[in-house]
Amino acid sequence: MSEAEEQRWVTVMLDKLAAQESKRMLGDSELAQRAEQLSDQYLNGRARPSAVRWVTNQNTRWGSCTPAEGSIRLSHRLQGMPEYVIDYVLVHELAHLLVPGHGPRFWELLEAYPRTERARGYLEGVVSADRLPHLPAARHE
Ligand SMILES: [Zn+2]
Repeated sequence: MSEAEEQRWVTVMLDKLAAQESKRMLGDSELAQRAEQLSDQYLNGRARPSAVRWVTNQNTRWGSCTPAEGSIRLSHRLQGMPEYVIDYVLVHELAHLLVPGHGPRFWELLEAYPRTERARGYLEGVVSADRLPHLPAARHE
């Protein structure tokens, strides 16, 4: 492959990746819809968020919420992660609208979501990978 061909190939592959990523990425309104579905499915519809949106200023937490306002924010770092992981973070924040803190009552609610353990393992893995600077997979942005 010549350098020009290689460059063209790289551009094509990057475009493909970006297209896949944006297909997988939910917009804010889809995110709110998703949260409503998850609340219905796993929390008997009791959690009713007023707003659900992505934020880019949240690098140490995956999600956060303000129960008084009923608002939920998800870190943009979740974008591109498997759907079940994003769903877990949504269910987690939805549950916080009902129960503050991480006591037994909170985790009881989370048990309704069947992939809680798996999603938590995935996120722990991401955090660990971030701490291993010699791995190329740990590099981002
Ligand atoms: Zn929490």
